[in-house]
Formats: sequence, structure tokens, C-alpha cells
Amino acid sequence: MAAEHSGKSGFMSWYFKSNLLVRILIGLILGAIVGLAAGPSILWVKPFGDIFIRLLQMIVVPVIFFSLVVGAASLSPARLGKVGVKIFIYYMATTVAAVVIGLIFANILQPGAGLNLSAGQAAGKALTQPNVVDTLLAIIPTNPIGALARGEVLPIIFFAIVFGFSLSFLAESKEERLSSGAAAVLKFFDGAAEAIYKIVRGVMQYAPIGVFALIAVVFAQQGAKALGPLGMVTLTVYLGLIAHLLVTYGGGLAIFGLKLTRFLSGSKEAMLTAFVTRSSSATLPITMRNSEENLGVPRSISSFTLPLGATVNMDGTAIYQGVCALFVAFAIGSPLDFGSQMTIILTATLASIGAAGVPGAGVIILLMVLNSVGLEVKEGSAVAMAYAMILGIDAILDMGRTSLNITGDLVGASIVAKTDKSLDMSKWS
Ligand code: ASP
Repeated sequence: MAAEHSGKSGFMSWYFKSNLLVRILIGLILGAIVGLAAGPSILWVKPFGDIFIRLLQMIVVPVIFFSLVVGAASLSPARLGKVGVKIFIYYMATTVAAVVIGLIFANILQPGAGLNLSAGQAAGKALTQPNVVDTLLAIIPTNPIGALARGEVLPIIFFAIVFGFSLSFLAESKEERLSSGAAAVLKFFDGAAEAIYKIVRGVMQYAPIGVFALIAVVFAQQGAKALGPLGMVTLTVYLGLIAHLLVTYGGGLAIFGLKLTRFLSGSKEAMLTAFVTRSSSATLPITMRNSEENLGVPRSISSFTLPLGATVNMDGTAIYQGVCALFVAFAIGSPLDFGSQMTIILTATLASIGAAGVPGAGVIILLMVLNSVGLEVKEGSAVAMAYAMILGIDAILDMGRTSLNITGDLVGASIVAKTDKSLDMSKWS
């Protein structure tokens, strides 16, 4: 009895004392093995994965709102404008580079070639353009509380910045009543943001168990398929993701005197969390914590660029769109010409901006990219068959692309902070 007791407490103390990342990796590997070996009989563990995702989602809205109010209050509008322009250029340039890398790998490896799903190609359909004016207008919330309640990231960002600015103006007021009131409100938000980060740390203690369950479910349902006949698509997407990480991010960081190895060791927790949750939004609390604590990005920059990036900057999704569009074309036996591939660069960039940071968003928005080059998914068509094949392994592809999506956000935040001279370089040495 006594021995049993000490054995249990031994495990508990090992659990809480050992390195978190090692525990998460153990969960990941065990999850994959158990999922592949046990198949559907392991699906009962799903709720344990859902607990992890729900805990993360619980803190997303507060973490964006509290941190960004404090962040905006510490930036002047002019400086925020500069940060905004820089991050916009970075997000656009890296996304276009991502699609191009995806297309290059897909042209070389030709996933889907020889499948010959059917002779004919479905007739094209005009692309339904999203209404740009409405999308932009929707950034201004008509009801900020409603935006918070619905978790709409862009309207929350807008309101938090306006609110933070007005607090910082008031804090400098000569009238004591106004300045002390604003300072108290700011203090409140600062404390609230810290409390949320404290929760993030607690949630991560549960991560290894959540990770085990999430991965076991994915591998039980789709593992064998991704390794089997669709292995070439999986390989092409993952090679594209790795190339983008090494060339675009490694090169980009090097240009600004930052080391990729140091970056990766500071970002690994967020990268792994994105890998298993398949959601940039759910990973956001970890992404923000890693950027501040490990990469030395000031909250004034991370609190603005990271929520924005989790919503609009998706390089992994862009690579995946390029590869999958070519896969579908190869699979039905009508490879895309140069002009169509140029169209894909444009539509995949827009699609990755439009995709929400939630699991499986990319495969839905892939429909738009396919449409733009005349590959319409119609019931019973060859295109629909090829699309269904991708759908079958989407979770496996989603893990890698989501991980790269948030990596790109962290690289952007680091580079912008470096050019802004506010990056804490002691974290990089
Ligand atoms: N799951 C991805 C993300 O959250 C989006 C996608 O499906 O491509 O970043």
C-alpha cells in the first residue's frame, strides 16, 4: 500500500517536474502509435483532447482584448502605424513566397500524376468574389461587446486599439480626475492580462494528456491513409513547409541579424500546440506568451501583430493550397499551365487571408482556389473525387500547415520588433 502510494506520488512529481516539452513530445509520439495501432477503438479518448482545445479557446478573447488595450496604450498612433505598415508588407510578401514554394515542390514531385481519376475536366465557373467593401467595413464593430461575445478577432482588435489609445491620451491629461482614472483602468487591464497568462501556464500542464488524445484520434481516423496512396501529397506539403521555414524564415531572420535556431527554441511550444490543435486562434495564447517570454518581443507589438497574424497570415495554408490545386489537376490528368498557376498565386494568397484560424478552414477555402482555375467540385465529377481524397487526410496536412502559420506570425513579430529597436536582444544571445 505504502509502496503503491509512493509510486503514484513519484509519477505525479515526475509529471510536474520534468520538462514540459518532453512530456508533450511523449504524448505526441504515444498518441500516434496508439492511434495507428488501436484504430477506431481508441476514439473514446476524444473528450480529453477537446478539454485541451476548449481551455485554450476559453482564454483567446480575453488574452487579445486585455493585452491589446495595454499594448495600444503604450504605443503612439504614429508608431502603431509604422508597425502596421511593416507587418502588412511582411505578411503579404511571405504569403506569396509560400504559394510559390508550394507550386515549385508540386511541379517537381507531381503528386497525383498518373491517378487518372477520369478523362474529362469539369467546366469552370466564374469565381464568386468576396465583397471587399463589406469585409473591410465589418472590421468596425457596431457593438464591441457583441464582437467580444462572438469572438470576432478583427473587430476586437479595432476596438481594443481605439480604447487603448483613448486611455493613453487620458492618462496624460492635466486634469487629475481623468489621468488617475485612466491610469487605474490601465492597471486593471494589465493585471487582467497577467492573470490570463497565468492561466495559460496552468493549461499547458494539461497539454501532454490533451495532445495524446488529439493525436490518437487523428491517427486512428486518418493515419494509415496519409502514409499510403496519398503519401505523395503529404510529402509534398511537408517538404514545402520545411523549405519555407528554412529559406524564407531562416533567410528573413538572418537579414535582420537573428538566428533561426534561437528562434525555434523559443517558439517550439507554440509550434507544437498549433500542430496538435490545428488552430491558429486556439494557439494564440501560447504564441503570445512565447513571443514575450522567449523571444523578447514587447507586448505593444505582439499584442497587435499576433492576433492579426493568427487571422490573416497563413503561409502554411498558402503552401497547402498551391500543392493541393496542382494535385487535383494532376489527378484528373489535366496539369495546370503557367497562366493558371499564376492565378493560383493570387487566389491562394487571398484564400489564406480569408481562411479562419480554425481546424479544417483551409480545405473549405480550397474550393475557391480550385474554382479560380476552372476545377469545380461538382457531385460525381473527377475533381470531386480528387478533392474527397484530400479531405480524407486533411487533418494530417492541417497539423503541419497550422504550425507553420503561427511560426510565420512569430517571425514577423520578431522582425518588426527588431526594426523598431524594441526587441529584447538578451533573449537571442
Ligand atoms: N487550421 C489552420 C489554422 O488554424 C487554417 C487552415 O485550415 O488552413 O491556421
